[in-house]
Amino acid sequence: MSTAPTDPAPGSARPLVEAVEGALERVLDEARLARGGAVADYIPELARANPEHLAVAVASVGGNVYGAGDDRHPFTIQSISKPFVYALAVRELGFDEVAGRVGFEPSGEPFNAISLEPGTGRPANPMINAGAIVTSALVPGPTPAERFERIRAGLSAFAGRQLEVDERTFASERATGDRNRALGYLTLATGILPLPVDDAVDAYFRQCSVLVTARDLAVMGATLAHAGVNPVTGEAVVDPAIAKRTLSVMATCGMYDYSGEWLVRVGLPAKSGVGGGVLAAQPGQVGIGVFSPPLDGRGNSVRGVEALVGVSQAYELHLFDHLTRPRSAIESVVVGPDGDVVVTLRGEVDFIAAEQLVDELRGHAGEARSIRVDARAVTDVRAVAARFLAVAAGHLRAGGLDVVVDGLPG
Ligand code: GLN
Repeated sequence: MSTAPTDPAPGSARPLVEAVEGALERVLDEARLARGGAVADYIPELARANPEHLAVAVASVGGNVYGAGDDRHPFTIQSISKPFVYALAVRELGFDEVAGRVGFEPSGEPFNAISLEPGTGRPANPMINAGAIVTSALVPGPTPAERFERIRAGLSAFAGRQLEVDERTFASERATGDRNRALGYLTLATGILPLPVDDAVDAYFRQCSVLVTARDLAVMGATLAHAGVNPVTGEAVVDPAIAKRTLSVMATCGMYDYSGEWLVRVGLPAKSGVGGGVLAAQPGQVGIGVFSPPLDGRGNSVRGVEALVGVSQAYELHLFDHLTRPRSAIESVVVGPDGDVVVTLRGEVDFIAAEQLVDELRGHAGEARSIRVDARAVTDVRAVAARFLAVAAGHLRAGGLDVVVDGLPG
C-alpha cells in the first residue's frame, strides 16, 4: 500500500487501514521465518511457483479488505474450491440430496485417499478429493460446459469478481489426473457419482484451476462468515444455513489429516489447496486468505499455516477464545422520580443478554412503578431470548408491575 507523507483528513480511513495492514506485515515477517516444505511438483505449472511469494489478506463482514505482501498475486485455487462448490451443490439440490451422496466425517486421511463409507460407498466428506469430485458433479446443467459455467459463476459470486480458469493448469491436471479418475470410477461403481467419470473429473480439474489472489480468498471466506452474503458486493450467494453447513464441514475436515491440530492452534474453519493458498473464516467477523507455495507433507502451505496462526492470535479469532465478560445488550437504565424505569437495549439480544436483562428487571420489582424496555435499537434477537423475555415480563406483570417492551424486532 502506498503511504502519502501528509496527515490524513480527520475522517480518513487511512490510519485504520495502515494499522491493520501493519499488523498483517508483522504476521508475514514472523511466517517468513518458517522453513521447509516443497512446492507441489506433480504438474509443471505448480512446480514453477516462486517459493518466496507470501501474502495475507483479511476481509471484514463490513466489506473492507486489508492485505500485505503478494496479496494481488494470482495462483490456482485448487482444493479451496471444494467448500464453495459444496455450498453451490447444496444450493441447487438441497441438504438431503447432497448428504445422501457425501458424508460429514473427517477422514483423518490424506486428501487423495480412498475414503469411502463401507456399505453406501459415500465419500467420507466433501473436502477430500473423492467427495469433491462427487459434489462438483452434483451441480446441475444441460451440458458439461454449462455445468462448469455455473460453478465458475458461483465461485466468482463468492469472490465478488469474475474468476478465470488457468487453461494450462487445467490441461496438466487432466493429463496427470489418473488417481482422481480412479476415485471417480469407485464412486461411479457404487452409484454415487451421477455423471460419466470424464465429465465429472474434468469439471473438478477446471474448478481446481481457477485463478485467485489472497484478497479473493479473504472475500470468499468473508462471504461464508457473513451468512452467505458477499460483504463487498452485497450479493446473497447462498442461504445462511448453507454457509453454516459449509463452515461446519471445513472446521472438521478442511485441513485433512491436520484438521485436529489446526483447530487447536488456529481455531477457525479453514481450507487449504496445493497451490499454496489457505482460507479461513471467523463467523460474524472476517474471512482470511493466505498464500505461500511450499507445502508440508499433508499438502498444507507451511508459511500459510504459520501466517494464519499469527492472524488468529493477533486478532484473537480462535472460536473458543471468548470474552470473559459476556456482551451486554443494556445501554442504559434510568429510574425516574416516580419509580418509572426505562431500560434501553441495543445490538444483539442472545440468551446471555436476555438473562442479564431479566436479572435487571427483577432487580426493580420491589420499588419500580413501571418498567419500559426500549428495544428500538436492537438489531437482532434470538428466538430463545425473546421467549425467555416474554416469560419474565409476564411474571413481573402478574406481580402487579406495569411492564412494556417497545420495538423488539420479530
Ligand atoms: N488438483 C489437486 C488434486 O486433485 C488438488 C488437491 C489439493 O489442493 N489438495 O489432486
